[in-house]
Amino acid sequence: MTPQSRRTFLLNAARGAGGLALAGGAVALLRRAAGVPLHQIDAARCTACGLCETECVRKPSAVKCVNDFAKCGYCEFCYGYYYKAPPSDDPQNLVCKQKALIRRKVGDVQFEYTIDESKCTGCGKCVALCKRFGNGSFRLEIRRDLCKECNRCTIGAACAPLAILRQPYRPA
Ligand code: SF4
Ligand code: SF4
Ligand code: SF4
Repeated sequence: MTPQSRRTFLLNAARGAGGLALAGGAVALLRRAAGVPLHQIDAARCTACGLCETECVRKPSAVKCVNDFAKCGYCEFCYGYYYKAPPSDDPQNLVCKQKALIRRKVGDVQFEYTIDESKCTGCGKCVALCKRFGNGSFRLEIRRDLCKECNRCTIGAACAPLAILRQPYRPA
């Protein structure tokens, strides 16, 4: 099958699947395989305003926080994790009220921060603080297995800095 006919086949399969109420994730997979541009967040434009949590048609949102480990400082005091020094696991001092951020000691003074996506609501609070005071390794991402690939992304329609763009899929 030529690349063009494969793309047409996959697109037709994705369209036909709509009537069968196929799960959004499966449609997304077909679209990705067919090379169709997908809604993605441009981290450089995103201000972590909070609308990704509330405006997605999915509840909870298809947007989740991810940590770019190549950028992360593995800091003992993470600005996206704690509100203020010294580090204290008092719930009042934790940025993430969903308990979606996981802190794990990985060296003498190094700590790894991961995200439990099943708890993350995409509120962006940790992202905003990491961006403002830290290395900016936390960012928001539309997870492909959750996104329904709406024709018009309702978050994108509300996003003031126009951070949600349709682009060929690029795994981060
Ligand atoms: S709506 Fe736009 S600026 Fe706000 S968190 Fe989502 S992508 Fe970022
Ligand atoms: S603070 Fe918000 S965006 Fe960050 S991990 Fe928790 S729920 Fe997700
Ligand atoms: S395309 Fe739809 S499901 Fe995906 S992030 Fe936007 S509103 Fe949510």
